[in-house]
Amino acid sequence: MTLQSPPRRHHPGPAASGPVLPGAVLPGPVAPDLVERLPHEAVAVLHGANVGVLGLGRLGLQIARTLASLGARRLVLDDAGTVRHDDLGAGGYRLADLGRSRPAAAAGVLADSATTTAVSPGVLDGHDPGTLTAAVVVTHEQIDPACTWRLVAQGVPHLLVTWSRGRLEVGPGVIPGLTACLRCVDLHRADEGVPPARGRHAGSGVEDPVLALAGAGLAVARTFGLLAHGSAPRGLTRTTTLSLPDLAQRTEHWPVHPVCGCA
Ligand SMILES: [Zn+2]
Repeated sequence: MTLQSPPRRHHPGPAASGPVLPGAVLPGPVAPDLVERLPHEAVAVLHGANVGVLGLGRLGLQIARTLASLGARRLVLDDAGTVRHDDLGAGGYRLADLGRSRPAAAAGVLADSATTTAVSPGVLDGHDPGTLTAAVVVTHEQIDPACTWRLVAQGVPHLLVTWSRGRLEVGPGVIPGLTACLRCVDLHRADEGVPPARGRHAGSGVEDPVLALAGAGLAVARTFGLLAHGSAPRGLTRTTTLSLPDLAQRTEHWPVHPVCGCA
């Protein structure tokens, strides 16, 4: 996938408004999305949707399998890596997949799942991201906002899922022009003295199977939020960080940053 750097826009804008401060920790039940009924509108959209899954470690594979089982029309699978030993086992790849390209192996796993979902294995370079209904991007370490700018520029709703220091962060879900993008999040964090994110390492690194299992359910629920964002945009503005040993969670809310220029 070829992702371009964002234009450098630094025009000032009005201060963010709303009752919740950027990065505020919100109280509430664990992953409330998971206990709500799946929105019918989103299910209908999924049945006609082309969804990209970028980063096909154990977590990305489970997200793809779940979206297929729920009737996604087509999945475009993107990962330049190969299946490793730590990708095998529960929720992961099969022993016979060891050493195969992750997109090809994931397509085989999906084929064995008896779904009707069409699968396009291979990196996204051969596809126009603008043809995607939505995308889920699973990365290791903080992702550079420049890497997702093409999705923002082409109006593709996308969910960021990030492994970092043994924790898993799900969100934000980005509806370009409507909700905060990843650059907005970095700008808010910079306001608080947190260094900006750097690098893109999609699909690399060891993925804990427990966090992957919990995170896949939450990521799919947030993906449904992307597909039916008109009815539930608020959940998309959150990042939920899961950590072991007890799946403790931290939830933060991110409004559009006034100087980002994405909305
Ligand atoms: Zn932004």
